[in-house]
Amino acid sequence: MVEAERMRVSVIGTGYLGATTAACLAEMGYEVMGLDVDEAKIDLLRSGKVPFYEPGLADLLTENLRTGRLHFTTDFPEVAAFADLHLICVGTPQRDESGAADLKYVNSAIDNLAPHLTRPTVVVGRSTVPVGTAATLAARLCALAPVGEEAELGWSPEFLREGFGVEDTLRPNRIVLGTDSPRVEKAVRALWQQQVDEGIPFLVTDLQTAELVKVSANAFLATKISFINAMAEVSEVAGADVIQLAEALSYDDRIGGKFLGPGLGFGGGCLPKDIRAFMARADELGVEPALSFLREVDAINQRRRARTIDIARQLIGGNFAGCTVTVLGAAFKPNSDDIRDSPALDVASTIASLGAHVTVYDPQALERAREAHPELNYADSMLDAARDADVVLLLTEWAEFREANPEELAAVVAQKRIVDGRNALDPIYWRASGWTYRALGRQ
Ligand code: NAD
Repeated sequence: MVEAERMRVSVIGTGYLGATTAACLAEMGYEVMGLDVDEAKIDLLRSGKVPFYEPGLADLLTENLRTGRLHFTTDFPEVAAFADLHLICVGTPQRDESGAADLKYVNSAIDNLAPHLTRPTVVVGRSTVPVGTAATLAARLCALAPVGEEAELGWSPEFLREGFGVEDTLRPNRIVLGTDSPRVEKAVRALWQQQVDEGIPFLVTDLQTAELVKVSANAFLATKISFINAMAEVSEVAGADVIQLAEALSYDDRIGGKFLGPGLGFGGGCLPKDIRAFMARADELGVEPALSFLREVDAINQRRRARTIDIARQLIGGNFAGCTVTVLGAAFKPNSDDIRDSPALDVASTIASLGAHVTVYDPQALERAREAHPELNYADSMLDAARDADVVLLLTEWAEFREANPEELAAVVAQKRIVDGRNALDPIYWRASGWTYRALGRQ
């Protein structure tokens, strides 16, 4: 703890990843300064408010602001003076139709920080970047920093899951660091000493391997989801039940049951953009065929959205025009208010464009959804959202929806029809309450 108290760390970019990282490092005993170019976000964080929903984070933020270990700023000279170790956590969104990652934020973080580095400094990237980015940034850092080669860059990709961000940061399942510099390795090992002492694997690789670990992990996860969703497509026409199929597969421990839940597919700020950026990078490197399967992974994922809409359309008699539709869920997954590339909102918005009156309810993501999709209607409770519905679609598997009472919902809807886009409900129970129940991958 004495060591921890001495180390001063900056976290550049305080979105989902950076704000969680900053609060967790302060909780571990470090002096931490978070920096963002978004002044409104920094004002919120300074006043103890988390700008997004992440279980457990608000308590860590308030507690560590109170202890004085956690600070926030928008000023690069201030972080440069404050810390000897800087973690880059800025966004790397999809650039355009090409799918390539937009590196303007990582570039600008380095460009803004480097000119203020007047003493030996370690900079460690944590954002998800295309392989080859870190080497370019390392050269850029040296060229722009007054200390030259004494400003060293390593890359340590982050694997946290939104909704479990605090737990995953304090107890990651592995720490990966790309560097060939003993000084960078020493600083990052010291940062995670508590975790290393607990037996968490600490792997040191070259820069390229570290960058690839992250994108290949996400490619694998996306592939696993699309694999079971492809089996759902086949099950639908072959008369099989994909839930039973997935369960039977899961007992083979070479396959395992995680990420094997058939349904509406993946979304969010990571998997879709990461697999597209990975393909775009493979193209640039001339190894496009190696990742061509990811195009199919993406296509299967998109087809699940279309299939969900088709099932709902069949249920209401073939035409959405003038219908009342309820969508349960707006976040891309439960326990998060992140709506980036949300399958639920994509489906809701397409159905609205087909002439239906669509009302959405989500326990945490309503505010963001309202802002991004003003064409939709919103309700503050599940029952309000379901009033007079011709069909209800469950599209994000929040516990509140999993535990929904079919009798209560039946009392407010116009027609007892439900599309379970996440295979989150018990069909026997819902059918016994008089509902017409449809799900993906099942009869
Ligand atoms: P985010 O959009 O929530 O946050 C990014 C933040 O960076 C924003 O607050 C933005 O204002 C800030 N920013 C942009 N340019 C800046 C600059 N020059 N200087 C300082 N701040 C700047 O994104 P996120 O979800 O936190 O993701 C950040 C990175 O981490 C991405 O590369 C993402 O792929 C990766 N990642 C995210 C997660 C996750 O669960 N969200 C998990 C692992 C890795």
